[in-house]
Amino acid sequence: MDIVAVAAQKGGVGKTTTTYHLTRAAARAGLRVLAVDADPQGNLTSALAAEPPQPEALGVADTLNPDAEHRYALDDVIVPAVWEGVDLAPTSGEALTYIEDELTQKPKTPENSSRLKANLATMADRYDLVIIDCPPNRGALTVNALVAATQVLVVTMPALYAANGVAHIFSSIQEVQKELNPELKNRGVLLNLWEPSTIASREWRLWLAETYGDQLLEPYIPKREAVKTAQEAGMGLDELPKTEELVRFYDAHLQRLLPSRVGRN
Ligand code: ADP
Ligand code: MG
Repeated sequence: MDIVAVAAQKGGVGKTTTTYHLTRAAARAGLRVLAVDADPQGNLTSALAAEPPQPEALGVADTLNPDAEHRYALDDVIVPAVWEGVDLAPTSGEALTYIEDELTQKPKTPENSSRLKANLATMADRYDLVIIDCPPNRGALTVNALVAATQVLVVTMPALYAANGVAHIFSSIQEVQKELNPELKNRGVLLNLWEPSTIASREWRLWLAETYGDQLLEPYIPKREAVKTAQEAGMGLDELPKTEELVRFYDAHLQRLLPSRVGRN
């Protein structure tokens, strides 16, 4: 089972969008996928849940509760997603914000940082791919995701704060590699919202290329209405017209992440 964390220190760069379209690509490749919404904003849940979650429904927060008495198994919270072969560990409401605060106040012990990892270990026979949408910070939930993951994909966009944020998340990745998860592979930086027609976009791309070398991954994902529309409609890009190139781009990123599971075609 491959576990991919999609992370960035910044919001609005396209973590959820990337997680969503990579999930679609994996489902089309016939993989059994568990998408984990580890962001209290719950955007991935809104996009992927087959049924809108009830306010009282269990979610990822209930599986991470530091208080063992109130902790649920991942199995109790998983729901079907909109696509065949895809399940979702959902998040809705304030519960995950509360758990994030709770975990942040606890000492950063391996136990507190490894709860998601321990939960996912029970899923190894059920899924080929677990993909985790991280919150836009380097807090306890992101650390849990990085400790659980076999690989991490960083997302950024060609703009000042986003590009500078890459260094911060890279340093968190290095810390986790050093202390808690030496197996974690940093698979590089996916450049999203690429707008080759603007000077600022071109300059930030150049800066990222100079700073990160071949860790800046190609293809870049352009800013396109279809990327957003598909997600808002709960559809795959492959179901929209004139999106062949975008579909190929996400397929290429998935293939790079999972070369032994996804064939070239
Ligand atoms: P994050 O999860 O990092 O906060 P989102 O994935 O929610 O970011 O993306 C932020 C906004 O930008 C969303 O409205 C999303 O639909 C839009 N968006 C993301 N990537 C693209 C893209 N490549 N082209 C057009 N819109 C995009
Ligand atoms: Mg998001």
